[in-house]
Amino acid sequence: MQIKTFTSDLRFAEGLVKTVADEFLKALKNSIIFSAKLENVMITIEPIGIQTAGLTGTTDGENRESYVKIFVCEDDPVEFITFVIAHEFAHLMMINLNDILKLTNRANDGSTAYTAVTRLSSSGQEYGRAFEEAVADKLAMYIIKRIYGNDGVKKVMNKLFERQKHQLKIVDMFTSIFGKKLENCSYIDEYSFSGNCGSIANIFWYKVVTFDFGRIINICNEVMGTPESFSDFAKSLDEYFEEEGPETLQKLYSWLITFQEKAKEEA
Ligand SMILES: [Zn+2]
Repeated sequence: MQIKTFTSDLRFAEGLVKTVADEFLKALKNSIIFSAKLENVMITIEPIGIQTAGLTGTTDGENRESYVKIFVCEDDPVEFITFVIAHEFAHLMMINLNDILKLTNRANDGSTAYTAVTRLSSSGQEYGRAFEEAVADKLAMYIIKRIYGNDGVKKVMNKLFERQKHQLKIVDMFTSIFGKKLENCSYIDEYSFSGNCGSIANIFWYKVVTFDFGRIINICNEVMGTPESFSDFAKSLDEYFEEEGPETLQKLYSWLITFQEKAKEEA
């Protein structure tokens, strides 16, 4: 991992980057893929003038190298800056550097994986970007809780957009169908053996970090009884991410409530 800061005022963030990388490795039982990625990652930390919850990062699968750009505002609380860094690391975790387009275990909606979460439909249209953003926020919040405890979580929540707060709630509702809540897991990919039996604490998070998200889509479509149910949901979330329309939000929550009810019936 190489870190470059654009101004000396941002030098303090280098320590935060190392703390976040460390915490992610501690939070992953199966951390081999992620630690290999960290070896080749180039991180730049750049200033952003205004107080903002915005952040951006890019990763490039070519040459198995990746670049993560992190924009921070030095006046932000340190917990929030750490959150911004952790959010970008979460994206890095979801990118398969070995083989971005072929990684796929195709889901039954015909889509292929672009990252572990973002998909390309059979007609080549991208969807799930907003779901990935929400998942990245959730993972970043999990890391914040591990580093700073509940006070840190509160400070970060205060600075989030309304949209992000809804997205966190949506991810919680979605993932609760697949097992334990993330904050109740000691590891993101918690897996435990007792005797000969192993069990996954939360299939959702396990599948995200093992690049098997197609399985989550299949489960979802099976429960809802239509082959495009997940992609419709993910597209609505993309729409909400762009527009923040209250009607789209309503649609998302009612989809989730139906999903929860149907999943309970099947269990
Ligand atoms: Zn993001």
